[in-house]
Amino acid sequence: MPRVLIHACCGPCSLMPIVHLRDEGWEPSLFFFNPNIHPAWEWERRLDALRLAAARLDVPLMEECDRPDPTAWVSALGGIVQLGERCRLCYRPRLDRTAALASETGFDAFTSSLLYSRYQQHDIIRREAEQTALRHDVRFLYRDFRQWWYDGIRMSRELGLYRQKWCGCVLSMGEAQRQQQEAEKRRAAQKAERAERMEREAEARRLKREALAARQEAKRIARLRKAQERDPAQDSGVPPSPHDRLAGIGVHEKPAVQAVAEEAGQSFRDGKGQPEPFQTES
Ligand code: SF4
Repeated sequence: MPRVLIHACCGPCSLMPIVHLRDEGWEPSLFFFNPNIHPAWEWERRLDALRLAAARLDVPLMEECDRPDPTAWVSALGGIVQLGERCRLCYRPRLDRTAALASETGFDAFTSSLLYSRYQQHDIIRREAEQTALRHDVRFLYRDFRQWWYDGIRMSRELGLYRQKWCGCVLSMGEAQRQQQEAEKRRAAQKAERAERMEREAEARRLKREALAARQEAKRIARLRKAQERDPAQDSGVPPSPHDRLAGIGVHEKPAVQAVAEEAGQSFRDGKGQPEPFQTES
């Protein structure tokens, strides 16, 4: 059976390459060499997850060193920090070291778990790997493992593997944290906007209900008044309007007349003549 050395960036990304290369008839081995991963505890967590994946899937695992060493990553970048360009320089030593090991130890081919990730620069990885394959005279096995993205996520969860939150380097860590903070701010702003809108809508509904109730009450009173006009002996149950009350008070009864007029908000000319007729609602 032909043997393939898989450069493994982490446990979750290695699952689908192992499963599908086996399906194709390859015998896979894993190689962990990732000086880009920051900080040291993150490097250890990813290596632990890979060890667990290798044990569960029964795949041999080779490790470049027993502690994180970022010097290879720093010197590979040479001060370049722009995303894309720095990633190309970051892939290069990892793929190069894998190709060299595959060649030295008699593997038939090498590939990388980076080809599984939707977040990696797939085309750049492929180009870099093809060039390094030529340098080390070993076959690069290109596969697009991204088609099994969700299968890989499900399997990593089933195995209980640690799933990282950023690509690896210190720069990607800062970028991921900023993106997360921005997403949180966006979510908080959306929540506040939603609450404000709901409050506005509730107030509009309340005003509408009140207006409807006032219209219904006005109609009811108008109906009762009409009924009383048709039959004055009938007690309408409607409270008397100021006009009705004035009709029952003599103009000489000044304090009582004035009190009714003031209550209705009208001026009254000190006992000279009748008050202005009230406007009643029809
Ligand atoms: S973002 Fe990822 S691929 Fe790019 S330089 Fe950082 S660790 Fe490497």
